[in-house]
Amino acid sequence: MIQKLTGMVLHKRPYDDNSAIITILSQELGKLAFFAPGVQKNTSKNQYAVQFLATSEFEIFLSYHNNKLSKLKTGNLLKTRIKLAQNYDDYLLATLICEIAEQAVVDRQDDNELYELLTTTLDNLAAWEDNLSIVIAFMFRALKWYGLEWDFTMCKRCGSKQHIKTISFLEEGYLCKNCLLPRDYLFPIELVKVFNSNFHTNFYFYNKIN
Ligand SMILES: [Zn+2]
Repeated sequence: MIQKLTGMVLHKRPYDDNSAIITILSQELGKLAFFAPGVQKNTSKNQYAVQFLATSEFEIFLSYHNNKLSKLKTGNLLKTRIKLAQNYDDYLLATLICEIAEQAVVDRQDDNELYELLTTTLDNLAAWEDNLSIVIAFMFRALKWYGLEWDFTMCKRCGSKQHIKTISFLEEGYLCKNCLLPRDYLFPIELVKVFNSNFHTNFYFYNKIN
């Protein structure tokens, strides 16, 4: 069965001299690995579509069983994100983010929320100066897929949305200045701001205008 997918390349493992095993996070089927024959050759039409971090359209010979590898028919590059691969720090962070996303889900279960989070994070990483905030915001949001969801809408002790002062690992969310106790750790306010609604809106805004 031929399946059309739009997805982002999470991982590219060389296989023999000419081929590779590609893992993508797709919009239609979630995480999926496939065999990509010949893509390591300079003459391959599909070589750009399967580059690490690229978003591409794929036509895949989909295997019937999850434990059998599917196979690439054609790939059509939509977005390279080559800028991330050219800067060593960006490249390391992008690799870490892709690892976390890859481990977060099982094969062949579509998950648009993770797809949006991942692609937006990578695009922000390429476009913004403040890489630390982007990675922290991604990691906290990604906790949800590991069974831990923190609430960043209000103070966890009194419910107030005003005067948020720090993040509490004990309460798994925000604390306001009135509820702060001497034993609570005070995070730098820049870090706390990463989780406010403005940051959240901006975090996703960049993606929408590109
Ligand atoms: Zn409070």
